[in-house]
Formats: sequence, structure tokens, C-alpha cells
Amino acid sequence: MNSLRKSAKHLADITPYDPKYIPAKIMNSANENPQDVSPHIKKEMLSAIDGVSFNRYPDPLANDLRDMIAQVENDRYLQLCTQSKQQGGKTWDATFTLTRNNVLVGNGGDELLFNLTLTYGGPDRTFLNVPPTFSVYENNAKLLGTNIVNISRLADFSLDEHAILKRMEKGDIDFVVITSPNNPSGDLADIHFIERLLCATDALVMIDEAYFEFAQKTCLPLLSEHKNLIILRTFSKAFSLAGVRVGYVLAHADVIQEFLKVRQPYSVDAISQEIAKVALSHREDFYAEAQAIVKERVRMFSEIKEIAKASEISLDVYPSFANYLLVRIENAADVWQKLFEAGILVRDFSHAKGLENCLRISIGTRQENDAFLRELEQIIKQFA
Ligand SMILES: *Cc1c(COP(=O)(O)O)cnc(C)c1O
Repeated sequence: MNSLRKSAKHLADITPYDPKYIPAKIMNSANENPQDVSPHIKKEMLSAIDGVSFNRYPDPLANDLRDMIAQVENDRYLQLCTQSKQQGGKTWDATFTLTRNNVLVGNGGDELLFNLTLTYGGPDRTFLNVPPTFSVYENNAKLLGTNIVNISRLADFSLDEHAILKRMEKGDIDFVVITSPNNPSGDLADIHFIERLLCATDALVMIDEAYFEFAQKTCLPLLSEHKNLIILRTFSKAFSLAGVRVGYVLAHADVIQEFLKVRQPYSVDAISQEIAKVALSHREDFYAEAQAIVKERVRMFSEIKEIAKASEISLDVYPSFANYLLVRIENAADVWQKLFEAGILVRDFSHAKGLENCLRISIGTRQENDAFLRELEQIIKQFA
């Protein structure tokens, strides 16, 4: 047969996700950790893999890893309870604990985002999105024929809290995703607003905390009071494991139960499970590394501000709590091209809605960041 029947009708206007990941000397485009896992931890990972029987199916639910994650988050929860008390803040229920039934591991956070849409989206279902944000949410919603309601962020990319709460009143929203820190803008959602949102609706509210380890701010305590909250995390960013594909969600057991109905049984392979366990056991090392990246981000922010001051073309950089910075720059597409020609790949959002003339720069190593700053200065001189 030299012809092919058409695929499902709703795929006609869908374009495959394109990470625009083209090889360059300096890869500052995908928000990865610029450093691979350090050699002593990698060695431990390799030895853990050595114990895996390749002929056997993996534990479908990665229960050992789920237990470990629950334990880590319980410790964090108790710490946050104590902190809140000391600072005269809210008193959280100190008896609340997470078990493996509150954790689900996926093939990267992306798989869990897909599962979210499979459980809460689809025809006759409505998703509230707050763009500009991670495009995967909207793509998944479209793929399953979900209605999408967009409440755009304000000019500084903060949430239009009033408009979101107002829209929820209608009662037709089935699920919401809020990214905090937001990708690509880097701003943080206010936990008090999230609390108000959770109180105002029974819709499932996902807080995507893919960059939690950099921001060190989490909605975790809210899980003790709200059944309709789900938190997404990943090993791809701070844990240097983008190539390994492990992410997880934290939620009420009833939510996890619904996710179990749609998930692919063996999506998290045995090797990835072992690697993630070793990574988690060394979490303090990764947290420290994340804070070193944050230091570099702070330096980059002020250096870019300096360059902007001296520049004759318009250039602005937005405050960020993650491992990237969003800049708005005149002729962004041309600037992107010049950077690329100089061997530096950043993410071009200049053609994305609400992100006109925006480029996102992932924080690299100190040398990479210096190379970027030098190049940016040169390019700006050419355009002035
Ligand atoms: C990177 C990222 C994820 C998840 O990435 P995975 O590699 O699939 O774990 C989820 N949400 C946001 C906003 C991200 O930037």
C-alpha cells in the first residue's frame, strides 16, 4: 500500500514538541544542570546498576524509591512545621505523614504531566492554564481534546490572582497547573494565593515544582489540608539526571489511585530506579550544588543589568528563583543567532505568545556564563 489512512482528526493541528536542542559548544538552553553527576556518586550508581537483573521486569511502582521519597518529604514537612512555628506563622498538623501511597514515580515529570491530562482532561473537561508557561500542559490538553481556558499572567509574569479566582467561581474548571518557579519567567507563586485557590475549588490543582531545589520554596505543607493539591518534582534539573528520566508527584492517596489507572505499568525502568535512589541518598550534595548555581544566577542577573545600563538597545532581565534567566531584548531572534554562531545555545522564545523578544538563558558553569556575558556585550555593540 502506498497510501496511508489519516490519523485521528484532532491531531491535524498538533505539532510535535520541539525542544530546539541543537548541538553547540555551550548548551544553556534546556535548564539542565551544567555538571554531570560527580564521579564518586556516579560510581555508586554504576555499582547499583550492576546488581539489576536485566531479564526481569522492574518493580512497576518503584516502591523502594516511593518509600524513600515519602521519608525525605516527611522530614522536610516537619522542618517546615517547626520553621513556621518559630516565625509565628501558621501551625501545621505535626502528625501529618506521607507514605508511598502519596507518591507516584514517572518516566520524567513529563510522563506524569501526561498522566494528569489522562486522569483529569479529555473531551467535556476543562483545563485552566496560566500562560506564558511550560507549553507541555497545553499540548497535552489539546491532544486529548480538553477545553482550555487561559488566564494570562500580568506584564511582569506574576499570576493574575484576582482573575484566576474569579474564573474558578464558574465551577467548570476540572484542573489547573501552576508552575512555581514558572518556566520560562522564573517567578514564584505566592503560597497564600495557592491556599486561597485550593479553598475556592475542588478542581485538581497541580503545582509544578520542577525547580524546587533552586527556589527552596514548596507548597508541601498544604498537602496536609487539601485533598485537591498535587505537587510535581523531577530529578532532571538539580539532580543532574535529565538523561535518566525520573520524576514524581506528591498527592492525596485518592489522587494517586486515579493516576494508577492510566499509567503505563513499566514506564520507570529498573536502572533509573536504582540511579534515582542513589541520587536521593546524596541529596545534600545536590542541594548544595543547586545553591552554587543560584549564586551564579544572582551574579549573572546583576551583570546583565550592568550590560543593560550601558546598552543603547532595550534590554531587560526578569528576577528568577530557578536556574535560568529570562531576558527581553530588542532583535532577540538576531541576538539568538549571533550567540549560536559564537557556540552558545540559549532558548529562543521570541516567537512565542506573550514572550516577544524573549530569550531564556540556563545558568551554566562559571566559564560558560562568562562566555555568554562577553558575547552578549559584543553583540549589543553591533546592534547599537
Ligand atoms: C523540566 C520540567 C519538567 C519535567 O521535566 P522531566 O525531564 O520530564 O522530568 C516539568 N515541568 C517544568 C516546568 C519543567 O521545566
